[in-house]
Amino acid sequence: MSFDITNLKVGFIGAGKMAQGIARGLLSSGKVQPSSVIVSSPSSKNHGFFLDFGIATTHSNTTVVQSSHIIFLVVKPHLISTVLNEVSSLITSQQIIISVAAGITIAKLEELLPPNSAVLRLMPNLPCVVQEGALLFSRGTHASEKEADLLRSLLSSCGLVEEGPESFIDIHTGLSGSGIAYVYMFAEAMADGAIKMGMPSSLAHRIAAQTILGAGKLLRDSGQHPAQLRADVCTPGGTTIFGLHALERGGLRSTTMDAVEAATERARELG
Ligand code: NAD
Repeated sequence: MSFDITNLKVGFIGAGKMAQGIARGLLSSGKVQPSSVIVSSPSSKNHGFFLDFGIATTHSNTTVVQSSHIIFLVVKPHLISTVLNEVSSLITSQQIIISVAAGITIAKLEELLPPNSAVLRLMPNLPCVVQEGALLFSRGTHASEKEADLLRSLLSSCGLVEEGPESFIDIHTGLSGSGIAYVYMFAEAMADGAIKMGMPSSLAHRIAAQTILGAGKLLRDSGQHPAQLRADVCTPGGTTIFGLHALERGGLRSTTMDAVEAATERARELG
């Protein structure tokens, strides 16, 4: 299968938060024009978002399948069977199917699709909507390096795009899909500490958010191990080591590891 990326037609079945995030990243990469994208959902509720970008919308999933080379399945997991039963007979081996439905395995997708379908399973996280997502994908039996490269290229503006075995998808959910909520809880607690010490709430929350953003950017862009960056700000006898000692007393590290483990186990149970 080979595609000329400039003529690629991309379809989304589902028009919710994740479809919007991926579509926004796709367009900002400049590799796909809005006129090459089409989105379907039963209600017009979210169509305005796509229409504002110049993307066509429809209520018909079959229209999306008939007009797209790449089809993103972006409906809730319990609707995947319904949607694929509706459109499967129209899908050809020249198309690529990308599912973002949590818990729906490649084996299940391949069972619902015609034989030899090129399937990829993608797990994004919500910061996709601001082009800072962490996305992990796995290839199905009939998806080659070519399809993987195409997906990486298309989604490069959504954030970090990594490939791994399907067994990593649930771990990615525990680490990153759910992980953003751990960071929000940490941000809230940091701001609460500052409020306790007398800082106004809105200022404390703005500074907590910027602290997390700055720390994350430095960590990612420097490529250094977090322990190194942490050591760099620990002056002997200074403020940071006192703060870190308090976090260690509270078991932050082991609690965080427990959180990733618990969320991963839960993703496995739901899968
Ligand atoms: P959402 O509820 O925001 O959007 C779902 C969309 O599907 C809606 O536009 C709805 O109208 C549409 N829809 C419903 N029935 C349909 C049908 N029969 N045919 C076509 N469209 C239909 O949900 P979301 O948060 O965008 O999640 C979509 C998928 O993304 C889910 O499978 C979820 O597991 C996965 N996902 C979401 C996140 C996240 O952070 N939101 C992260 C990872 C994976």
